[in-house]
Amino acid sequence: MVTILGVRLNNKNRFISIRWKLVSTYLLLILIFVVIVNIFITRTLLNLYIEQKEKDTLINANILSNRVKFFLNADEGSSFFLRDVLKNQIDNFSKEIGSRIIVVDDKKVVKGDSNEKLINKRLNYEEIDIALSGDTKVNTYEFNDSGPMMYIGDPIMVDNKVVGATLVLTSLRDEYNRVREIRQAINMVSLVTMSIILIISYWFASIFSKPITRFTTAINKMAQGDLGQRVEINTNDEFSQLANAFNVMTIKLDQVDTQRKDFVANVSHELRTPLSSIKLLSESLLHQNETNVEIYRDFLEDIDSEIDRLNNIIDDLLMLVDLDKEKLTLNYKITYINFMLEKLISRLKPLADEKNISIKYIQKEKIQIKVDSEKLQQAIINIAHNAIKYTPEGGKIKISLYSKDKYVVIEIKDNGIGIPKESLPNIFERFYRVDKARTRNTGGTGLGLPIANQIISLHQGLIDVDSEMGKGTIFHIRIPYNM
Ligand code: ADP
Repeated sequence: MVTILGVRLNNKNRFISIRWKLVSTYLLLILIFVVIVNIFITRTLLNLYIEQKEKDTLINANILSNRVKFFLNADEGSSFFLRDVLKNQIDNFSKEIGSRIIVVDDKKVVKGDSNEKLINKRLNYEEIDIALSGDTKVNTYEFNDSGPMMYIGDPIMVDNKVVGATLVLTSLRDEYNRVREIRQAINMVSLVTMSIILIISYWFASIFSKPITRFTTAINKMAQGDLGQRVEINTNDEFSQLANAFNVMTIKLDQVDTQRKDFVANVSHELRTPLSSIKLLSESLLHQNETNVEIYRDFLEDIDSEIDRLNNIIDDLLMLVDLDKEKLTLNYKITYINFMLEKLISRLKPLADEKNISIKYIQKEKIQIKVDSEKLQQAIINIAHNAIKYTPEGGKIKISLYSKDKYVVIEIKDNGIGIPKESLPNIFERFYRVDKARTRNTGGTGLGLPIANQIISLHQGLIDVDSEMGKGTIFHIRIPYNM
């Protein structure tokens, strides 16, 4: 038994492969079918044979009744001739049809018996009673010694008067034997058919269960950490659909795993850089023979700013983790966007003033929509903050608000240094910075745009960017009116 993360993957003792389950199911179904068909065919055939035998025997009983009707009154006093004729008729006919024949008079006394044994005895058989009342009666019996038998009683009529009865006793053994032979033949054919079906169904079940084996192997390997598993199945059925879905899932898992590893590597790297600086600065201080307080102050200021940087990175990381968790729990409220932007710009103003950058705010219309105001402000601040950071002294920033199609658009335009074309697709990746050295001076973490992007995605919106090196950058935030 293999156990991974507390899950039992296999139990050899109780394991019955799907292949054998399928094979035994097929066999069981076919066995039930064969048994039903066998019973049905043999019953029907037996009935047909018995019906046929009944018809033949009735005809014979009729013929005999007609032949013997005038010899029936051959009693003790009658001439031997009459009795001999009756006896001959019965004996010959009995041989001809292979059955015992008994002829009785209207008092049920046996006048002729092909076996001789019952002559002059009175017979109380149901078939004779009914025949003497003018009807024909057929019964079948199963005897221990003579096996299955059919008894037919037929009236002997003279001038529409019943003068006696013919009783034909015929064996049904041949009919039963014939049906038994047919049953044996059916059993033989069924056995051969079932053997062939066993082979075919085993082969079919192997084909059927092969994909499952492949999936199991791939999943087991994945459970041991090898996420790059793919399953190739070209059967054009649900299994190929499952394989496609499985492969898409493993590609996604692989990507997530790679992203996770990259993220951990990036975080470690990003945290190590300020930590190394702090370590270097503090070591320099420790080995300093200087007693000049100014030098200490300089070093400590550098250490302080590295600690701020560490704090910024950790705050941004925590914010990203929160956004991942908060996917479904944004705090939506109807927000007057014009006013929200006004407040936001007044918060940014001191920072822009430091670099003598002007911020122009253009509101083309009044807009109210349902958003998570705090989160949205965070996204806009990140982008606007970048506009200030990457725009030289005396630059210009323009923030515009308008509607287009079914979207609210917030446009942030600067005339700063711009972003190279080849970097544009990457700027929303975590920790991506166009110029690492430069952003270190500006205090960037490479997490501002990913945070903004995540917030806007949560609002089902989009951010796009257009930029030209040396001329400036323009960001468009689009949020749909109907979320
Ligand atoms: P950072 O914290 O480094 O600014 P961001 O994720 O906010 O990280 O931005 C990623 C990178 O995109 C920045 O390092 C910068 O190189 C570039 N960038 C973003 N906004 C602008 C802009 N307005 N002008 C020029 N470059 C920009």
